[in-house]
Amino acid sequence: MVSRPPTFCPDCGTRLESTTFDERKRKRCPTCESIVWHNPVPCAGVAVVDRSRPKPAVLCVERGVPPGVGEWTIPGGHVETGEEPATAAARELREETGVAVDPADLNILSASTMPPRDGKHVITVHYVADRADAAGEPDAGSDATAARFWTPAEFESAAETFRPVHERRFREAAALFE
Ligand SMILES: [Zn+2]
Repeated sequence: MVSRPPTFCPDCGTRLESTTFDERKRKRCPTCESIVWHNPVPCAGVAVVDRSRPKPAVLCVERGVPPGVGEWTIPGGHVETGEEPATAAARELREETGVAVDPADLNILSASTMPPRDGKHVITVHYVADRADAAGEPDAGSDATAARFWTPAEFESAAETFRPVHERRFREAAALFE
């Protein structure tokens, strides 16, 4: 399996040919006589919501690496092989913000297909967690240039950009605790 549309066989390097299988166009290696599957990549993220303020605020990070440098997102990233999605979400949260949360304290907000980017298709499981169950103060870590809590109203009045595919989750997470 590959994360972007393949041109060559990952096993033997032969140029792939196109075929139709299960009513979809696929890439097939004529040497190995097998299909090279192109499937979506699983990602996981968590919106930590601070309910101790007048309006719920969501912990967000500003991206420091492509794609979308300078855009704000909900902390998250790829699920490692063999890793539970909630564990991945908690790990990414800690790496990007320094805030720690027990995977058992995460609840699923949504599981959805993201719009493809450069041929890479991602399915993201978004979780939500209560700030009261999390430990530590936000401090931007790997892949992030800033980490802080935003209410939707604060974000709207700031000259900042939210990563479009994540903005709905940001608002949904805040609205859960309204
Ligand atoms: Zn091959």
